[in-house]
Amino acid sequence: MANIQVHDKVFEPYLNAEEIQEKIVAIADTLNRDYQHKKPLFIAILNGAFMFASDLFKCINIEAEICFIKLASYKGTKSSGQVITAIGLDTDLVGRHLVVLEDIVDTGKTLDAFLPQLRNQQPASLTIAALLQKPDALLYPLEVQYVGFKIPDKFVVGYGLDYNGLGRNIDRIYKLVE
Ligand code: 5GP
Repeated sequence: MANIQVHDKVFEPYLNAEEIQEKIVAIADTLNRDYQHKKPLFIAILNGAFMFASDLFKCINIEAEICFIKLASYKGTKSSGQVITAIGLDTDLVGRHLVVLEDIVDTGKTLDAFLPQLRNQQPASLTIAALLQKPDALLYPLEVQYVGFKIPDKFVVGYGLDYNGLGRNIDRIYKLVE
């Protein structure tokens, strides 16, 4: 498989479509087992997780719901730093079993800032399923219960992940050539 160019950078093939799909089936099998009779609510984080969420949800064969949210981060008016708001989260979360779907967990900063907002609404449980995780880049105390691939701390594109807006439509994952 050949390298590709996205904007000014060259990327090399890293994970092919078959291995991604196999991994998604394996994660779904585990979720089908762990969440049987719990009617989980999957919360997919846009934009990056749309493809992972779609393929994963097709393999979920228990009673389950899904919603898609967008996280907007902005600087607080005071020195409180980053504030994260969730757009599109209008379901009642009290007593629900939540599974947050992420494309990739890098430093963990985004989820570390956002998850307390979910916990505040008293769900019955809360876990994270991420297609990719960069364990070496993790800076926040975040436990990712369901991980597809643990990858080195390198920038990747494809399968929903972009580089400056491009590359999301590719059905496999490419790694930056440095
Ligand atoms: P974190 O808050 O965990 O540091 O970063 C999470 C977000 O950063 C991901 O949801 C994703 O949007 C972006 N991100 C982190 N690493 C990569 C990467 O290697 N490639 C791309 N395209 N996005 C990344």
